[in-house]
Amino acid sequence: MSFLLLKLKRLSENSFFTARGRKVKKMKSRLLNTLLFIVFLAVFLYPQEALIPKRTLDVKLVLDKSCAGKDKLPLFKKIIADVSRDFEEQFALAFSVKTSEIWKNTYKKKSLASLIQLFYNNVAKGDADIVIGFVSPRDLQGKKSYGVSFYEEGYILLRCIDKISFLEKVLKHEIAHLFGAAHVSDSNSLMHHFIRGDRLDGKNKAIIKLQRERKFKVSGFPLSAEICEKVVPFYEKIAHANEALKGSLIPFLQKKALKSGLLSDHFPTGRSEEIRTAYKGLDNVYTYLAMIYIHLGKYNLAVTYYLLKDFKTAGKHLGEAEGCGIKVDEKFKQALKKALEEDK
Ligand SMILES: [Zn+2]
Repeated sequence: MSFLLLKLKRLSENSFFTARGRKVKKMKSRLLNTLLFIVFLAVFLYPQEALIPKRTLDVKLVLDKSCAGKDKLPLFKKIIADVSRDFEEQFALAFSVKTSEIWKNTYKKKSLASLIQLFYNNVAKGDADIVIGFVSPRDLQGKKSYGVSFYEEGYILLRCIDKISFLEKVLKHEIAHLFGAAHVSDSNSLMHHFIRGDRLDGKNKAIIKLQRERKFKVSGFPLSAEICEKVVPFYEKIAHANEALKGSLIPFLQKKALKSGLLSDHFPTGRSEEIRTAYKGLDNVYTYLAMIYIHLGKYNLAVTYYLLKDFKTAGKHLGEAEGCGIKVDEKFKQALKKALEEDK
């Protein structure tokens, strides 16, 4: 009997220890699971931008005489700081005013589009990455355009309007152009042709993320060939979506452009007049595409005209390119030949 009791006791003790062991094990695995969950949350849900080291770009702020007024400099510095905060949140990109200058703009009644070339010729960049200029509306011709930019050089020129919230929006739009953002037909986007929306659309966000390390100071194209290849599909998607507007906005804009000069508020370069003329009337997603294609050595000006559906001029440039010994993509040559035949 006592033997039996002893065995029972041992059994119960054993089972007690086993149960306690299981409990400890369970608690350990729960703790481990919780820890793993926290690590998961930290890695995957924490904003990815925060993991990217911040890039701060030096800005040269330029005001024309009437814009500068009575000590308006702090106001414009604040505008840039506000816009910078927004870009920092989204892309870990910050803009810091390092130098400022008053520009004696002697050119009267110029459109913003023609003034930016003169601004670029007259205001040196110095050590800055980006030059942001504000000019008084009273010296400008026309009322339609609010901002322009030179992509390759990193120059922005804005119409100095009183409505600060809209001025900030235009500045965001133009800075986005410097990082490759293109116009979209989506009216909720900040990159809408007429800056209708407040936020950047997904495709342009992806483009800016890809171009956030673009060069500003070194001469030559701002992007590496690797980034060019990566960014092209996003432009193609935007171009495709914008094409859906055929019959409405794009022909309207092109007509307007033919009447009044350049359509886009973003220009590929201030250096080459020829290239700028070629981009006249082109939806600016194509200007980025053509620029990249040309940089990659895949195409030349003929492609720009082909994209514009001006096949005759495209053919002329293709002939010139071949005459100069420039290697022409065979597929493109065939596509253009076909388009010219169909156009007849
Ligand atoms: Zn624009």
